[in-house]
Amino acid sequence: MSRYCVAPWFLIWLMLVYQSGCCLLDTVIAASSFSHVHHYINKSNVDQDYCERKRKLSNFGGWRLCTEKFTATLPIDPIQDNYVREARDFIFSVVYPTPFKSRVLLVAVSKEVLEDILDLDVSVSGSEEFLQLVSGAKIVLGSLPLAHRYGGHQFGSWAGQLGDGRAHLIGVYTNRFGDSWELQLKGSGRTPYSRSGDGRAVLHSSVREFLGSEAMHYLGIPTSRAASLAVSDDDVWRDRFYTGNVKKERGAIVLRVAKSWFRIGSLEILAHSGELDLLRLLLDFIIGEHFPSINMNDPNRYLDFFSRVVSETAHLIALWMSVGFAHGVCNTDNFSLISITIDYGPFGFMDSYNPDFVPNMSDDERQYKIGNQANIGLFNLNKMLQALNPLLDPRQKQLASQILEEYPKQYYKCFTELFKAKLGLLGDTEDDNYLIAFLLKLMEDTKADFRMTFRQLSEISQDLLKDFSIPKEFWALQDVAKHKFFSSWVDLYLLRLKRNTGDSDSERSRRMTNINPRYVLRNWMAESAAQKAERNDFSEIHLLQQVLQHPFQVQTVAERTGYAQRPPAWAKDIKVSCSS
Ligand code: AMP
Ligand code: MG
Repeated sequence: MSRYCVAPWFLIWLMLVYQSGCCLLDTVIAASSFSHVHHYINKSNVDQDYCERKRKLSNFGGWRLCTEKFTATLPIDPIQDNYVREARDFIFSVVYPTPFKSRVLLVAVSKEVLEDILDLDVSVSGSEEFLQLVSGAKIVLGSLPLAHRYGGHQFGSWAGQLGDGRAHLIGVYTNRFGDSWELQLKGSGRTPYSRSGDGRAVLHSSVREFLGSEAMHYLGIPTSRAASLAVSDDDVWRDRFYTGNVKKERGAIVLRVAKSWFRIGSLEILAHSGELDLLRLLLDFIIGEHFPSINMNDPNRYLDFFSRVVSETAHLIALWMSVGFAHGVCNTDNFSLISITIDYGPFGFMDSYNPDFVPNMSDDERQYKIGNQANIGLFNLNKMLQALNPLLDPRQKQLASQILEEYPKQYYKCFTELFKAKLGLLGDTEDDNYLIAFLLKLMEDTKADFRMTFRQLSEISQDLLKDFSIPKEFWALQDVAKHKFFSSWVDLYLLRLKRNTGDSDSERSRRMTNINPRYVLRNWMAESAAQKAERNDFSEIHLLQQVLQHPFQVQTVAERTGYAQRPPAWAKDIKVSCSS
């Protein structure tokens, strides 16, 4: 209680508002403490900052980060001390990352994130300053590191306050295109939201997040990106398989970036605790920042916003399904308000087609199985609507329910369009859904590989298909072909392809190979890369980075490594859990 008395939140709030409109004075990266921070803010540097930001930087001179857009607009936790607590009336707490005690190694960087998003030449990643930045040892002066207070429904039940328990928002970067990206360290130490956790992430799960999120990006799926992966020798203790066998692992940090990290749970916590003015403030902030086409003066703006989130979530989940991606932990706190894939944990790309595929060994009831993701999307959007409801009048509530009722249709439409494209179908015919469902059923019955079936359908000629002479290298298709109804499906498919007006077989193949990936981050690949990394061999991480950047292009090195082959037998025994 006395802590509140020392620093009433409204005083800090006023101070931060007063200091608005600025970034930072100095470009030096240095360790700072909360009590120093405000001294580095200086309005006169704004124009110069802006000019410097527009050029591509080859080092950190002039590179700016700030979190001022949050701290000037949204109330901040008045308590500065880093201890676990439940609190209210603010969105963020200021809290510094905890540096590792031991030596830190830079495992990998994404050249594209550094150069295309952060305007940094990749050579910067060789510097000590970079390592300090991405491992949480130092913070760019003037940027207040923040942890976000949010809540969420986990596995169907309200879990109360969650928040960034092991993540620090270290700043926002506005790049040469004028796009703002929020930089977040994951695994960077305890925060007021760590609950009983240690604030750390281990190397194994960090490798998976680093590779997984980048792979999703190159598959064309909206996602957070990963800029770097750093590992330490600090001990982090984990019972990875919940067997009581606690093992020592190494702490790692991923620097991840997204246009926004706000989640459905960001709104839910405010509605649950009756902080309705703050809920309104946060909603207006998010809409103003990320939904420029919504009129801020429109009394129906929250409806508009909800409608966008509903349709974009439907689209995102359909995209996940089109590549066989199961998120693994579809809690409302892991569902982004800008509908990107976030918080990669025990995710998995399904190998054999199976709607019951569950990547997360902790999900005993199979709530988040791949075939249930669209339903869970609806559940989560319904929770979002419940959070918005206190701000809606009766008529708006009714309209919002109608918007939600459209979700199944929107999902189904996206799903059908994506799978039609995967099969190379042009135009519309009534039976397209039947053709898709028929194939999926054959794949389910024969346990055929999901992605390679579509890929090999893209690569095989209609002539070969017609004759049922499927070459040996088309191993996934050969599996489906064992089904007694495969020939019936092929007949229907070839008939349907004839209705593609103005198409040729080579054109069909070209279209299909451009959207049916040959390589995705199968579980065994991530596992193999992570196991090697644990022995300080980062070569497979680098190889996968290179391969997964071009998932649709045949690559000699990937073929040689077996990335387009049937997964090895040991792949089915791999287990991933929430322990990470
Ligand atoms: P996740 O399922 O990884 O998205 O995490 C769910 C919640 O648990 C979030 O609030 C995380 O910040 C928190 N959390 C997960 N692991 C840890 C950890 N090792 N230390 C502190 N908080 C954690
Ligand atoms: Mg999460």
